[in-house]
Amino acid sequence: MSTASESTARIREKLLALRAGYRDRIDTIHAHARNPLEPDSSEQAAQLGNVAVVSALENEATAELAAVDAALARLDAGTYGRCTQCGEPISAARLAARPASAECMECKKD
Ligand SMILES: [Zn+2]
Repeated sequence: MSTASESTARIREKLLALRAGYRDRIDTIHAHARNPLEPDSSEQAAQLGNVAVVSALENEATAELAAVDAALARLDAGTYGRCTQCGEPISAARLAARPASAECMECKKD
């Protein structure tokens, strides 16, 4: 029932909200990462483990942020919703679950 322009505006809103969320998350991760490690304590190993987890979370958030930016660029270019690999439309369900999806289910498989 929605026109293309209507859904484009809605998608843009969604993507911008996602982007703000990832930015917040990265800021929070950075704030925590600045806390120094306890020197020479039994907790150091655990904290080093946390650093690894934090950096994995940061990488994930950074990658998602890049995916959202790329999706916004595709929205501007008029290619949003099409697989960047094969050019086929990405299913609405997939886009609803992850608006920044760049590839269709088939191409994402490998
Ligand atoms: Zn594809």
